[in-house]
Amino acid sequence: MIGKKNQWSRRRFLMATGTAGLGALMAPVNRLATAAETPTRVPTRPFGKTGVDVPILSLGGMFNIASNQVMMRQALRWGVTYWDTADCYQRGSEKGIGKFFNKYPQDRQKVFLVSKSDARDPDGMTKLLNRSLKRMKTDYLDLYFVHGIYDIDELDDSIRVWAEKAKAAGKIRFFGFSTHSNMETCLLEGAKLGWIDGIMMTYNYRLMHTKGMKRAVDACVKAGIGLTAMKTQGGGSVRTDTDTEIEMAGRFLEKGFTDGQAKLRAVWQNPNIASICSQMPNMSILMSNIAAAVNKTELSFRDTDLLQRYARETHSDYCTGCTNICESAVGEDIPIGDVMRYLMYRRSYGDRHLAMAEFNKIPENIRRRLAITDYSKAERRCPQKMAIGQLVKEAIQELS
Ligand code: SF4
Repeated sequence: MIGKKNQWSRRRFLMATGTAGLGALMAPVNRLATAAETPTRVPTRPFGKTGVDVPILSLGGMFNIASNQVMMRQALRWGVTYWDTADCYQRGSEKGIGKFFNKYPQDRQKVFLVSKSDARDPDGMTKLLNRSLKRMKTDYLDLYFVHGIYDIDELDDSIRVWAEKAKAAGKIRFFGFSTHSNMETCLLEGAKLGWIDGIMMTYNYRLMHTKGMKRAVDACVKAGIGLTAMKTQGGGSVRTDTDTEIEMAGRFLEKGFTDGQAKLRAVWQNPNIASICSQMPNMSILMSNIAAAVNKTELSFRDTDLLQRYARETHSDYCTGCTNICESAVGEDIPIGDVMRYLMYRRSYGDRHLAMAEFNKIPENIRRRLAITDYSKAERRCPQKMAIGQLVKEAIQELS
């Protein structure tokens, strides 16, 4: 139900969007920021102490389909020269990049190319790195990540030695890790290591204002670590179910942003974030994100406040990845955070294929245990007050 105080906001919102409502915001309509009106290249920022400037928007994820080849070419023209993939990404992501460099070998030098390893041992990492290089038709990577760490202990001294050797051999320029679990601790501890050049972490308007995250980012900045934000949409599009959602969507529309663009701008307002990695599966999302990147309109305090209010009101819809809290309550091999993330891929990103592929990588014996585990203790501990048991049940039904 819409409260009286927000009837004005609702009227204004509907006048602006027409009867199509928020759905209209998802298309790059004339009055929204579009790439066509801003043909300049995406701005750059220094990536930690590496001495490299990277574009504030990076192209992430899947490079496998034919139309992506055109998109990669266009991305380069607009200055989106930071490309992110991983050995384990489904559907031949690295091969798509290899196909591009095979056709345009001169463009390799223009790209800050990043891939990731699921292995945690030197032999396994060497094998995966060599495979990534071969697939992408290149003899070096600009940045190589250990993929998706939960705890800094996953990076022991053998990995430091491995990274130094890989750099000396000219196979990688910089080294680091990505994380979407326990991000604050991983960043804080990573900053202490002294041999991490870059980190990619889940970071968005829901997470960026907590004391813990601010402290973690500051520690990385002091350590000269380049930071790339991912999952910056914080779980999907704004709906129009509540007063706050309507007020927020209407306000952003008046500024010339979709809610997705406004969420990107919220992250960019922290100058310590070098780049946002965004999966951009089609040209209209690429153009929309580029438009947001080149637009100089700042979000006001009121805009940021609205985003934070929205985050508070929808807290139980969003898993913040603090897996050390819930997983220790049920036994360490029950991957609650992963299951919540796969559900987000399905429901918020609409990527059923990816969600199912990732979910079904969970070993069968653990998947069986997912269904019979008692999550009540984890639910009591969860700071987001998520209905973990019910959500796991739904994930099993939707993703198995
Ligand atoms: S389910 Fe709750 S406790 Fe577990 S990772 Fe998500 S937000 Fe944290």
